[in-house]
Amino acid sequence: MAEQHTTTTKTTCPYCGVGCGVLATPLQNGTVQIEGDETHPANLGRLCSKGSALGETVDLGNRLLHPKVHGKRVSWDEAIVSVARGFSDIIAKHGPESVAFYVSGQVLTEDYYTANKLMKGFIGGANIDTNSRLCMSSAVAAYKRAFGSDTVPCSYEDIELADLVILAGSNLAWCHPVIFQRLRQAKEDRPEMKIVVIDPRKTSTCDIADLHLSVKPGTDATLFNGLLHYLKKEDYLDLEFLEAHTEGFAAAMTAAKTSAGSIPQVAAVTELQEQDIVKFYQLFASTEKVVTVYSQGINQSTSGTDKCNSIINCHLATGRIGKPGMGPFSFTGQPNAMGGREVGGLSNQLAAHMEITNPEHHDRVSRFWKADNLARENGAKAIDMFNEVASGKIKAIWIMATNPVVSLPDADKVKVALEKCELVVVSECEQFTDTTELADILLPAAAWGEKDGMVTNSERRISHQRAFLPLPGEARPDWWIITQVARKMGFEAAFPFEKPADVFREHAQLSAFENDGERDFNIGGLADISDEDYDNLVPVQWPVMENTEMGTARLFTDKRFFTPSGKARMISVEPKLPFNPTTEAYPLVLNTGRIRDQWHTMTRTGRAVRLNAHIPEPMVQIHPLDAATFELVDGALAEVSSQWGEMIVRVVVTDEQRPGSIFVPIHWSSQYASMARVDALVASVYDPVSGQPESKHTPVTIRAYQPV
Ligand code: SF4
Repeated sequence: MAEQHTTTTKTTCPYCGVGCGVLATPLQNGTVQIEGDETHPANLGRLCSKGSALGETVDLGNRLLHPKVHGKRVSWDEAIVSVARGFSDIIAKHGPESVAFYVSGQVLTEDYYTANKLMKGFIGGANIDTNSRLCMSSAVAAYKRAFGSDTVPCSYEDIELADLVILAGSNLAWCHPVIFQRLRQAKEDRPEMKIVVIDPRKTSTCDIADLHLSVKPGTDATLFNGLLHYLKKEDYLDLEFLEAHTEGFAAAMTAAKTSAGSIPQVAAVTELQEQDIVKFYQLFASTEKVVTVYSQGINQSTSGTDKCNSIINCHLATGRIGKPGMGPFSFTGQPNAMGGREVGGLSNQLAAHMEITNPEHHDRVSRFWKADNLARENGAKAIDMFNEVASGKIKAIWIMATNPVVSLPDADKVKVALEKCELVVVSECEQFTDTTELADILLPAAAWGEKDGMVTNSERRISHQRAFLPLPGEARPDWWIITQVARKMGFEAAFPFEKPADVFREHAQLSAFENDGERDFNIGGLADISDEDYDNLVPVQWPVMENTEMGTARLFTDKRFFTPSGKARMISVEPKLPFNPTTEAYPLVLNTGRIRDQWHTMTRTGRAVRLNAHIPEPMVQIHPLDAATFELVDGALAEVSSQWGEMIVRVVVTDEQRPGSIFVPIHWSSQYASMARVDALVASVYDPVSGQPESKHTPVTIRAYQPV
C-alpha cells in the first residue's frame, strides 16, 4: 500500500473525459498542491477550475473508513465473507441472472477488468453495467454500426488542426474545459478557423462560436440528414472514397432525402432560420478539415445512436476521416468511460472489445480466462438492471463508485427498488450518500490520490493515476476488494492479483491473445509490460501494438475499417422525435446537464468552498417569455414537476435559454435538500440500440413555490 511522501507525483485528474495530467504534491498542512503537468499531451500544463481545486478536496470529512454490515463496523474478513456468501447463496437459489454489479466510469481500468472477470467469467451472468451507459453508450453503438468496432478515430490535436470545428450537443466550455481552452487558443492563433455550436442553449461555449444554431431539442438528426442531402445535391461528395471504402450509401441518401430533402423542410423541423442552415451547410461543404465533436446533447436521447450515425455519415460521405484535422469525435463524460469500454465494462461486451454473443470471441475469452461458465447472453443495461431490481428478478446488487439514487432517471423508483432489494452492497469513498443509506453492506473504497491504476481519456490515451496519499482507515482499492470476494466465492486460481500491474498485464495479454496484431485495436503491445514499466508508463494512445510503442494518434488512416468487408457502413437514419412529447399539462422540455464547477453528485467537488461559490444551490434556467407565462421571478423559488417526480429550485431568468425549454443541473442530492434531485423528474426511457436514457427531453411544468 502507498506510503505518504512529500515529493511530487505525476497523476491524472479524476473528473472529466479530457484526462488532464496533474502534478500532486502533498503539503504538511494536509492539503495537496496541484499543478497542471506540462508534459501530459492532453492538457500540456493547463487545468480547469475543478482540476485546480483538487488539493482542496482530499480531507477525510464524510469518508467511509471501515467496512460495515447492517450499519455495524466489521473486519474486512467479515465483510468479504458477507458479500461472497450473500451473492453465492442467491446465485445458488436463483441463478447468475439474479445478481448484478453496477459500476462506474470513475473506477480505474484494473477495477473494471476485475469486476467484469468475476461477473462474466465466473459468476456466469452478464448483469454488469456502468454509469457510463448514461453518458456515451450511443456513441459506442454508433461507432460499432459504422466502423465494426467501438473506435474513436481522432486525437485532441485534430481539433486544433481543423479549419472548421462543429460542437454538437456539447458545452465544451463547462464540460471539457481544457479542450475548450485549447480550441480557443487555436482560434486566436488562426482567426480564419470557424466554430459552429449546435445546442438549444446559448452556453458559454458560444463565446467563441462563429455560428450558433439553437436547434429545437431532439432534432439534430434532421439537421445532419439535411447536410448529407445537401452535400450530394451540391456535388461535394467524395465519390472515390464512398465507392472504395463505404457501403450503404444509397439507402442512407434516400433516408436523408426523405426526411430532410430541402432547406425549408429542415428549417420546419429544427426551427432554425433557413439562412443559418445554409451557412452551416456551406461551411461544412467547402471546408476540407472538419472535426465534429459531440457528447451528451447528442447521446442522451431515445434515438441517440441514430443521431451519432447521422454525424458519422457526413464525414464518411466526404472522406473526412483518418486524416489530420478531420473526423467525427465523441467525447466521454467520465475519466475512465473509455477504459471501461476496453475491458468490456458494458453488459453487452466482453473484454478487449469482444462481444459476448460472438462465438469466436466467446471461445477466445473463455479459454484465456479458463472460464467454463463464461456468460453467453448479454446482461441487463443500466435502466433495465434497476427495473429488474424493482421487479425482484435481480435480488442482489453491488454498486461501485456511483450514486444511482441521485443520478439514474426516475430516481425515486430506483430508491424504492434498492429499499426492497434483498442484498445491496455499496463500495464507496463516502460514508453518507443517497445510495450508501440503502446499503446492507458498505465497503470503504480508496479514493483519488490513494490508489494506482490506469484511465483512458476521450482520445484513447491511457494515463497512470498514481497514489500519493496513504490509505485512510481501512479503505482499499476496488480491484483488491473484488479480488478478495472472488477468492472467497471459490475462484482463487483466476484471481491471483496482488497489485494493479498484475491486472493490467493480464488485460493486455488478453488483448494480444491469439491475435496476429494486424487488426489489434487494443493494447496487445503492452502484454509483457514489467512492473517497473507499468509504474513509469507515460501516456500512450491505444491501439498499442508491438510496433507502435507510443500508440496510435489517428485511426483509419489506411481507410480500412473493422467490418467484415473492411468498408465503413453508412447508416440509414430516419429521424425520430423524443419519446415523450410535451403536453398541455407538461408544456416545457426539461434539459439536464453539468455546470462548470461541480462534478456528478458533488461528493468531491462539494468539499471545495470556491467551487461551491460558482452556483451554490439547485437552479433552473428559464427564458423570460416562459418566466412571464408561469409568473416566475428571477431569484425566487419554483417547483418543477413531471409525471415522475418534482423538485424545488432557484429561478434564473435568462435569454440564453430557448423558449419552451428549461435547464436544471444534475448535481444536487438529498444530502443537500430533500427535493433537490433532478433525476427524480427524468423519464427512464432509452435508446433501444444503446440503452442510453433520454436525459435531455422530459416534459415538465413549473410554478412558483408555495410553502405549505
Ligand atoms: Fe480535470 Fe477535465 Fe478539468 Fe482536465 S478539463 S482538469 S480532466 S475536469
